[in-house]
Amino acid sequence: MTDENSRALYDRALSVMPGGVNSAVRAAIEPYPFFVQKGDGGHVIDADGNRYIDWVMGLGPLLLGHSLPEQVQAAIQKQASAGPMYGTPTEIEVDLAEFVVRHVPSVEKIRFVNSGTEATVSAVRLARGYTGRNKIVVMQGGYHGAQESTLVEGDAENPAPSSAGIPQSFAEHTLPVPFNDEAAVREVFDEHGDDIAAVLTEPILANYGIVHPEDGYHEFLREITAEHGSLLIFDEVITGFRVGGLGCAQSELGVIPDLTTFGKIIGGGFPVGAIGGRAEIIESFAPSGPVFQAGTFSGHPVTMAAGLETLQFAAENDVYNHVNDLGEQLRSGLTDIVADQAPSYTVTGTDSMFKVIFTRDGPGPDSLEEQCKTGCRQNPTCPRYDYCPKNSADVKNAETERWRRIFWGKMKAQDVFLSQNQFECQFVSYNHTEADVENTLEAYKNAL
Ligand code: PMP
Repeated sequence: MTDENSRALYDRALSVMPGGVNSAVRAAIEPYPFFVQKGDGGHVIDADGNRYIDWVMGLGPLLLGHSLPEQVQAAIQKQASAGPMYGTPTEIEVDLAEFVVRHVPSVEKIRFVNSGTEATVSAVRLARGYTGRNKIVVMQGGYHGAQESTLVEGDAENPAPSSAGIPQSFAEHTLPVPFNDEAAVREVFDEHGDDIAAVLTEPILANYGIVHPEDGYHEFLREITAEHGSLLIFDEVITGFRVGGLGCAQSELGVIPDLTTFGKIIGGGFPVGAIGGRAEIIESFAPSGPVFQAGTFSGHPVTMAAGLETLQFAAENDVYNHVNDLGEQLRSGLTDIVADQAPSYTVTGTDSMFKVIFTRDGPGPDSLEEQCKTGCRQNPTCPRYDYCPKNSADVKNAETERWRRIFWGKMKAQDVFLSQNQFECQFVSYNHTEADVENTLEAYKNAL
């Protein structure tokens, strides 16, 4: 496998871009990232002509894969050739808004923005503006984009910025708690209940190895926020239009948040974010309300066309059956491999998401038949329940360094492109095939 062209491009990039990349995680690929020439179905081809089975899928947006159906391509091209954007409304924004309102239980109104980060920034400002309160509760290990209010580590007693450039005084308005820990949430509400604007959480932690909510956890968050006049915000940037199909994770969980943030799939592969929710709250955004929010590119017509056609295609074809079936094949194949070869590891995921977490303390070789069959949503009757990661500390405790060796060494060498580290999850697309699944499982078997 030659990589001369990627290497030369990386050298050029290093001299004009910090770390040679435009998003921090991309540089995690060692010894340097491969540069992509083009996508093809469920695969990408790099600048040296190497072809990889791609389970990264743009980090989530590409539900349909790299080869878009003709009708989706046509809609994007038609919109682009009508001039890219105008700074005044277009019909297609209304069409996509209506589609989302029709399908997602909690969404009565929606505002489109340009990234998941912008969506969570705006949702937090909206929650603060609507409630007149300052603090937000977040989950340790949850990711909500590169923004000041959520790049916070530590715990509710001692929150601290997790990046240089964020004042400690900002971090003090953020209260991180462990996921799946009801007592910790009760404690912060006992202490700060009157000043908590919102609890902001991914329905499933998808940026920390994939951690499922325990039964009843989101119902509990729904109740305690309502009781204290705080908002519940689901960050569905990853799970939206992936878990639970067009109804998103909230429809599968049966919990209706006040606000939902979207990104990724809703823009069909183009830059996007959105904040949806109860009409009364969303109306607090300017110009109908006092919470300022604006953007030159927001509701960009090409993005709206790509998002709408992608979702319409998914509504009219067996997209979710296909990706979820392949997801199940990957998870159950991986579960068997792990049971045979690395019984302490845990396979997580649901629908079209999957990940192997290098947990250290699985049930061990005596109970191989008890390895979980996945997508269990932390079902307490599962014999492996005790070993599933319940929060970010459990994932952090895994052999995260092993990712480098096994995945950058051994999976990439077998032409399989997996996510950059132990924490980011992996995605199945409509373009993936059973052959891709079989080849990937074979590669895992060799690598593990
Ligand atoms: N929220 C979640 C749950 C995410 O996974 C991400 C990005 N992976 C973001 C927000 C930020 O989105 P973006 O990278 O589009 O700014």
